[in-house]
Amino acid sequence: MKGKIIVISAPSGCGKSTIINEIMKRGNVDLRFSVSATSRQPRQGEIDGVHYHFLTAEQFRDQIAQGMFVEYEEVYPGRFYGTPVAEIEQNINEGHNVVLDIDVKGGVNVASRFGKQATTIFIMPPSVEELRRRLENRGTDSPEMIDQRVGKAEYEISFASGYDHVVVNDDLESAVNETEKIIADFARQ
Ligand code: ADP
Ligand code: 5GP
Repeated sequence: MKGKIIVISAPSGCGKSTIINEIMKRGNVDLRFSVSATSRQPRQGEIDGVHYHFLTAEQFRDQIAQGMFVEYEEVYPGRFYGTPVAEIEQNINEGHNVVLDIDVKGGVNVASRFGKQATTIFIMPPSVEELRRRLENRGTDSPEMIDQRVGKAEYEISFASGYDHVVVNDDLESAVNETEKIIADFARQ
């Protein structure tokens, strides 16, 4: 049986990576992470090929031209992100479920391309103020970048109603449990 595709989207800083990492660490569901490509700079601790394939703007353009992405978006001005087609196809053909951490527009594109093979989960912050606090506490972005990310959050939240599932990440453990259950139930279908 082919694997399933799970798209997870949320405004940056909502806790997507934390939730995905915890579910993968628990290991209760078969899940591979789809490593996206990006033209942004790595953050401290991010590893090329693990968190992202870090590309120059030129390499990114070449890969677009070669049709290597299922979808790609300029999520922030000058910073491109894309989902490599090979990454998904290989995993689902081998029967593994694949989780994608991608923005709202990319999420809509992947969902329409893969139809019933994919489900979509939106991670909602308890509030926009809390989102800002988390980004500040994470300490990986400049104040300008934090403003940009928070500024985009309301626009992104407006996509939530189009997602199959919405999980509020207030208490982390509850959010992880809920997300894990959605994925496990979908993987069994
Ligand atoms: P994203 O991947 O959506 O950008 P992260 O997973 O990096 O977000 O989370 C942003 C910050 O918020 C991190 O410092 C993380 O530890 C923290 N965080 C995540 N979930 C919660 C939660 N439920 N309560 C408090 N802090 C959280
Ligand atoms: P960050 O810079 O915080 O890692 O990611 C910024 C945003 O880009 C997040 O909303 C993340 O989900 C999104 N993103 C990461 N990879 C992809 C991708 O391959 N395609 C799209 N469309 N968005 C992505």
